[in-house]
Amino acid sequence: MKTIKTLLLSVIVFTLTACSAGISLYSPQEQVQIGKQLDQEIRANPKEYPIDKRDAQVRDYIDKNIFRPILASPAIKYRNVFPYQLEIIHNDSVINAFATPGGYVYVYTGLLKYIDSEAALAGVLAHEIGHAENEHASKRMFDAMLLQTGSSLLVKDSSPELLKIGVALGAQGWIMKNSRKDEDQSDQVSFEYLKSTKFYPGGVKFMFEKMRDDGSVAAGGGSGNALVKALKFFTDSHPDPIKRIDVINSKIKDSGMPLKTYKNSDKDIFKSEYDKNIKKKLR
Ligand SMILES: [Zn+2]
Repeated sequence: MKTIKTLLLSVIVFTLTACSAGISLYSPQEQVQIGKQLDQEIRANPKEYPIDKRDAQVRDYIDKNIFRPILASPAIKYRNVFPYQLEIIHNDSVINAFATPGGYVYVYTGLLKYIDSEAALAGVLAHEIGHAENEHASKRMFDAMLLQTGSSLLVKDSSPELLKIGVALGAQGWIMKNSRKDEDQSDQVSFEYLKSTKFYPGGVKFMFEKMRDDGSVAAGGGSGNALVKALKFFTDSHPDPIKRIDVINSKIKDSGMPLKTYKNSDKDIFKSEYDKNIKKKLR
């Protein structure tokens, strides 16, 4: 009996080790298929994901002037594998963006109306491209599959309820921890991708700085004012924005670049261009 328990525990340990190795469950080609499928589902559900034709002019502007230049970075490896695509979802109450496996990227009008510059938007888009390039979703699916296998070996139907709950929470905690690492990695690579563009490469932190000054987020991810509802989805999926500002700031310092904030109006922040071509054009 004891040896079986030891064996099962070693399965769990192997599982956790394998997870930190960052194994992807699907090949890049399969990820494109998954992304395509999700994109079709999103387009077939305009109630939840209103992609409005009237936003097409803004979408085209962002695609041509921000999205494609980021994808031209030498640090992008799946440029010719993933059919990178950008779409705007018309919902002003959501301050967020997301990417499917295979490079389908969506940004909400709530986010576009909240930020103030092309550099900030470039940071957000580069962050989302970073999730696709680093195959984060596929890696987390691998974790989930292995952990489920490991847990079901350790926990039998006859096991005490508390043990079942404990194992499930442990698995969930592990995946959560890894997804926080994914956020950090996407922030870091966004900086690398933007270095070859005309945009200030630290733009990914601009939105967090604005949220911090608004009192919308505090250290630890706590929230406090009217923006809370719009931000809830964002802070749930992107924990601890204050810590992320610090991480990006040290990356900027290490690279020897000047430290700029969202309040900066230098040429490489592109504020007036953002106002004229994006913010004022959104309904
Ligand atoms: Zn993210």
